[in-house]
Amino acid sequence: MTKQSYPSPSLPSRSSRSLLSAAISCVSDYDSDALPVSHAQAIIRDCITPIHAIEKVAIRTALDRVLAIDIISPINVPAYDNSAMDGYAFHSESLCADGDTLLSVIGTSHAGRAHQGPVAPGQAIRIMTGAPMPDGLDTVIPQEFVSAFNGDVTESNDANGSSQLPRSKPFITIAAGAVRAGANRRLAGEDLQAGAAALKKGRILRPADLGLLASLGIAEVPVQRRLRVAFFSTGDELRSVGEALDPGCVYDSNRYTLYGMLRRLGCDIIDLGVVADDPAALEIAFKSAADNADAIITSGGVSVGDADHTRQMMAQLGEVAFWKLGMRPGRPLAFGTINSSNKPAVFFGLPGNPVAVMVSFYFFARDALLHMMGAQPAPLPLMQVTSASIIRKKPGRTEYQRGILIRHESGRWSVRPTGAQGSGILRSMTEADCMIVLAHDQRDVAIGDQVEVILFNGLI
Ligand code: AMP
Ligand code: MG
Repeated sequence: MTKQSYPSPSLPSRSSRSLLSAAISCVSDYDSDALPVSHAQAIIRDCITPIHAIEKVAIRTALDRVLAIDIISPINVPAYDNSAMDGYAFHSESLCADGDTLLSVIGTSHAGRAHQGPVAPGQAIRIMTGAPMPDGLDTVIPQEFVSAFNGDVTESNDANGSSQLPRSKPFITIAAGAVRAGANRRLAGEDLQAGAAALKKGRILRPADLGLLASLGIAEVPVQRRLRVAFFSTGDELRSVGEALDPGCVYDSNRYTLYGMLRRLGCDIIDLGVVADDPAALEIAFKSAADNADAIITSGGVSVGDADHTRQMMAQLGEVAFWKLGMRPGRPLAFGTINSSNKPAVFFGLPGNPVAVMVSFYFFARDALLHMMGAQPAPLPLMQVTSASIIRKKPGRTEYQRGILIRHESGRWSVRPTGAQGSGILRSMTEADCMIVLAHDQRDVAIGDQVEVILFNGLI
């Protein structure tokens, strides 16, 4: 495997920086008490530019990485005409239109070991799945659709043309109409033609893609270098796992959920721990994060009520908008850039409450980070299922409720919320297997109404 590094990115570019200023200032034109989720998502998307840093890796290492170029197939797939079945290959013109067809079997074509020599009309060869079709043969009949038998034949095949003793030779008969001309043959290039696009730039490579690359004989591919994301938790009340839990304190769980979500996205992570609500400590943490990372994620200290230095420090060290979003959970969100000595880093200041952190990450940071990675992910599918519960919902905000899917005997699915939906109840996230997404204008949901859900898990 060769590893090639390309120049470090500068983030965001000059033009996106001014875009960011414009985006941030234009937000003041909106109801600052309820910036719609879709609007905030659009602003973030407009401000994000992909990093330009590529490395070449062996295809196994490319799993879950973002493909940095279009892959053009260097060969036809399949590379040659071959059989789709175990059976017998022959010329379709040998088929009798109105009766049984009798063919003599003169050889065998195995996958990797082709039959050599011509096959005349009236003749067939035994052929295995994937074995090359001899030149001129266009049809394969599966072995279970023929009658095979040995017949006594007399052939004159010695050098003098003199007659030989009769010997046993295999034949097959094919019933009229048992097979169509051209059946069960896979044509060269029918899956992918040489020169056609096999995989598109921006794709996050999945197991099937690794197989496809291997099937094209490609051993290494250029991928985007991993995104570096620094994160820390803010709050004087936070204690790290392993420390004693002093009165009035809580264990810091956000760094663990963030760790999990960032790892799942394939980021390189820089965990800067818990940072107290102290200007000097915050400044050091932010500067170190901006120096070393493409993006910074913090939790806590962005709510209006926060009598802390965190907001001030964010505003002082970069260009940051503090939003109050029309959503639940996760109303406050800070977004912008934090400057370091040489470059700005994209910044997400997530709320402190553990569920709000996860929801804000999934519905704001995730998409932005994927775009910074150069990925072009399809939007997350929203599935419609029936609500098994009454769900109270006020219009004017998007709600992300934690849901549990229920499979009914009929095969249909419904969903119910996990119970109390407080933004601090992390247990509700572990119990849930989906998010119920209640759109901005949605009102109360009755039992039997359709609601949209996003599943947590899929095939991997
Ligand atoms: P804040 O957004 O800083 O006002 O925090 C809101 C709530 O989330 C408070 O109850 C905090 O104690 C809690 N919280 C903040 N950060 C964390 C964290 N890292 N882990 C667990 N709870 C947190
Ligand atoms: Mg706080």
